[in-house]
Amino acid sequence: MNANEIQHLLKMSNKKHAPQSWSDLAAKYSIKSVFLVNDQKVNRSYIDHVESIIYVNEISTFWRNYSKAEYGNAKTPDESIVLKFLHEVGHAAYGHHLLPSAEFNTIGNTIATQLTNMKEAQAWKFATDFCSN
Ligand SMILES: [Zn+2]
Repeated sequence: MNANEIQHLLKMSNKKHAPQSWSDLAAKYSIKSVFLVNDQKVNRSYIDHVESIIYVNEISTFWRNYSKAEYGNAKTPDESIVLKFLHEVGHAAYGHHLLPSAEFNTIGNTIATQLTNMKEAQAWKFATDFCSN
């Protein structure tokens, strides 16, 4: 899928607005909307840098990936959803503007490889630092 197709999929997906406190935090980093996506077609979380929207996958199939220390020590599926959200906020906080071909940041069941990418590592650090404060 290219960025336009992903954007369309996300717009059409089954989703709801995240809690106000999440939107308030994200707004500090110029994010306009945060959605929780519950849709089998969407198996990852995304940040749309063009429209400044964060889409958090709230299906927790792979939540144990986030139980490692470098991803925030999630103890429950709900905690993994919070960490995915904070990771996307981290991208916004660091001002990451990914290349057009990688406009949409992805997190799925392959996060182990992401730490090799500096921007991904920074965004995870933001999430884990936030949780340890
Ligand atoms: Zn990322």
